[in-house]
Amino acid sequence: MEPGMQEIPVKVAVRIRPLLSKEVLHNHQVCVRLVPNTQQIIIGKDHVFTFDFVFGKNSTQEEVYTVCIKPLLVSLTDGYNATVFAYGQTGSGKTYTIGGGHIASIAENEKGIIPRAIQELFHHISENRNIDFDVKVSYIEVYKEELRDLLELETSAKELHIREDEKGNTVIVGAKEFKVECTDEVISLLESGNAARHTGTTQMNEHSSRSHAIFTISICQKQFVEPQKNTDAIQDSSCKSVQMIASKFNFVDLAGSERVTKTGNTGVRFKESIQINSGLLALGNVISALADPKRKSIHIPYRDAKITRILKDSLGGNAKTVMITCVSPSSSDFYESLNSLKYANRAKTIRNKAVVNYSPNQDRIDELELEIKFLQEALQNQQVSNQYSHDLNQEQTHISLLELQITRLQAQCCSYRDCVDEAFPFLVDLNNEVRLKRSQRDRLQSWITMVQELRKEALSVKKTNRGTEISQEPHHITILQLKRELKKCQQALVTDEEVFSQKDHELQILQNQIKTLVQENEEQLESLKEAQETHRLQNEKMVEQQILIDQLKEKLEKFTDVKTWDFSSACVDGTSVLASAKRPYSVPLTKNLLYSVHPPSGTETQKVYISLPAFSVAWVMAEFRARSQMILSNIEDQDKVLHCHLSDESNEEEENIGSKKTSFKHSLNKPWTRKEASPCVLRDISDMKCQADNSGLSNKFVLQTDITTGEEIDSLQKSHVYNMQKLKNSELRLTKAKQKIRELALNIKTKEKLVQEIVRTGKDAQFVSRQYSLKISKLEQEFEQTKMEMAETQKQLQELESKELGDIPEKARLQKEFQKKMDAAKMKVQ
Ligand code: ADP
Ligand code: MG
Repeated sequence: MEPGMQEIPVKVAVRIRPLLSKEVLHNHQVCVRLVPNTQQIIIGKDHVFTFDFVFGKNSTQEEVYTVCIKPLLVSLTDGYNATVFAYGQTGSGKTYTIGGGHIASIAENEKGIIPRAIQELFHHISENRNIDFDVKVSYIEVYKEELRDLLELETSAKELHIREDEKGNTVIVGAKEFKVECTDEVISLLESGNAARHTGTTQMNEHSSRSHAIFTISICQKQFVEPQKNTDAIQDSSCKSVQMIASKFNFVDLAGSERVTKTGNTGVRFKESIQINSGLLALGNVISALADPKRKSIHIPYRDAKITRILKDSLGGNAKTVMITCVSPSSSDFYESLNSLKYANRAKTIRNKAVVNYSPNQDRIDELELEIKFLQEALQNQQVSNQYSHDLNQEQTHISLLELQITRLQAQCCSYRDCVDEAFPFLVDLNNEVRLKRSQRDRLQSWITMVQELRKEALSVKKTNRGTEISQEPHHITILQLKRELKKCQQALVTDEEVFSQKDHELQILQNQIKTLVQENEEQLESLKEAQETHRLQNEKMVEQQILIDQLKEKLEKFTDVKTWDFSSACVDGTSVLASAKRPYSVPLTKNLLYSVHPPSGTETQKVYISLPAFSVAWVMAEFRARSQMILSNIEDQDKVLHCHLSDESNEEEENIGSKKTSFKHSLNKPWTRKEASPCVLRDISDMKCQADNSGLSNKFVLQTDITTGEEIDSLQKSHVYNMQKLKNSELRLTKAKQKIRELALNIKTKEKLVQEIVRTGKDAQFVSRQYSLKISKLEQEFEQTKMEMAETQKQLQELESKELGDIPEKARLQKEFQKKMDAAKMKVQ
């Protein structure tokens, strides 16, 4: 391990935000809780996770900062790199916690991590005047796998590159770095960056939840340090060396981790989500690879996404890192929260190797400056030589001209040699055979020797040339060939590598797509199951309703049977109509209408008999006459009683009265009370009183003239008084009877009226019955129609069933329609 290196695990914090007011309004339930007095979180009923730090719904921004971030800021000023990144689904509180919102409009205690860290950093700077601080900030966003400079929006994505320096620190080349001096300056830069983040798209906050934002504070500390005595004892104490420490703090607000399907994204948005998710997926893969205990042997896929490349030194590299996982407590976000917690749980095992980033000291800087000077000179020389290259070109053309000349001369040489070759044997012959002058022979001889020597030389040159050509040419050719092949191979290798990386990338994308598709498929399956369940329930309902309809139909049939039977029976005997106890309510069942012809028996209690109106009138009339007869006879009986009383006293009286009355005979013992008799009186009987009076008076006269003795007279008087009393009684009875007769007459009149009424009601009843039978037939028709509709609906339902995987809103619509139809059918049946 390097001196000063610390192997430290990534610290993982989880923050549960409180339920938002709209969630409270919609009565959302809480499904994530802290386990009291532990670092544990329980989600659902039985998922328990342990983390380095846990923050509940009542946790404050200050608490989060003090516990998680303050130590990182100390590390930053100590020279370590630091990173905090917020992870979680959209709306879980990442931006709130990191402090990337509108800082100016937020209350002091609501401020998030970034403003607090900035404040503390400048406070630290003001307290360490001996150190020369150099603070710079940059703000980058990764949106759809492209970098954006939030502090310099004109910078195009192509100008921004992610690089690694020699120590493995990630650097974004081309990003605007603002040198800052105070808190306010940084805050305003942060604000402008946030604004750029939010207004970067028409979809406002939608955009921010799809992008990763990285705010970086880089500090460089320059400090004069005393040289160590044992190494530089002779050195002057005034000669201090400069120590430089460079470190940075990344604040990362990651994109929302919600599933693609939850947002209902399709088309472009879907692709975009895949890209975002691919970033988070790549991050997940990096975390998984780093969390693997055998990780030394495996490759960490940092290069799969921009965000993982940027966070390379923060995950498993040279930085102290805190991951804050934000979760929503609402049970409607259960799966997202569970996923976030699983993600966070994996990150716990990542180990970073943080070192203090000493910058090269002044000596090294001087050295480098020298090197730069030297290089600059070299560059100048290079530039000079470049100037001469122009002349060189000219020379080259000159050489080629000369070469041409040479070849021309060589050709001439060859022709001369041919001439010489031809002339040589001729001159030799001439020398041998022709006599020449001595001077001529000498000249010829010298010429021949010269030619011979030249030939020898040429031969030896040829030999040596051949030898070198043989030895050099093959080597030269093979080297050239090999070089060419090497070049080809290298090119092929490069293209292969490119193809490989491209394919790798494609594979990654495809894998991501497969994963999302599998997820979606699972969800689809779930919804299918639900649909099947509802379908089953509907089927059950259908069956129930069918049963109901059958029952109703049966009842209706029974009812129609009864009705038809009623009418037919009424027509056959013409005396009564048998009505079912369950007859329609529209026809009132009054006592006036009912008359029991047959004495009611146990089995017939439910049946009532209705008199036919015409018949009933006749019957009532007959009844009435019979009663009248009875009353008349009663009255006559009464008269007879009177007569009997009188005949006890005198036979004459008996004869007088008896002759005037009808010959009805009643025994005196017969129980006869006028109370029992109907109170009816006949008018012609009113004369009876006068007659009785007359008979009473005549009796008086007869007694006074015929009886002479006093006793007889007394007894006669007594009987007379007695008779008189009786007569009075009779008179009284008579008046009563008269009264009763009058009442009876009235009664008859009312009854006649009643009879008329009954006749009318009977007619009405007939009419109503006719209408009712019409209604029944109509109802039957409607019922048939409804049945047909039902069958049709059932067919539709079957179609729906066959569709199954078809789109759900269509299905829901059909179901609604079906429900409506069923309701309508039910109503009709009722
Ligand atoms: P994200 O950035 O994850 O999409 P936000 O930070 O925008 O989520 O938070 C969504 C909403 O929840 C905001 O209105 C925010 O004020 C609120 N919120 C988040 N966390 C908390 C918390 N700990 N306390 C109170 N309100 C919170
Ligand atoms: Mg946000």
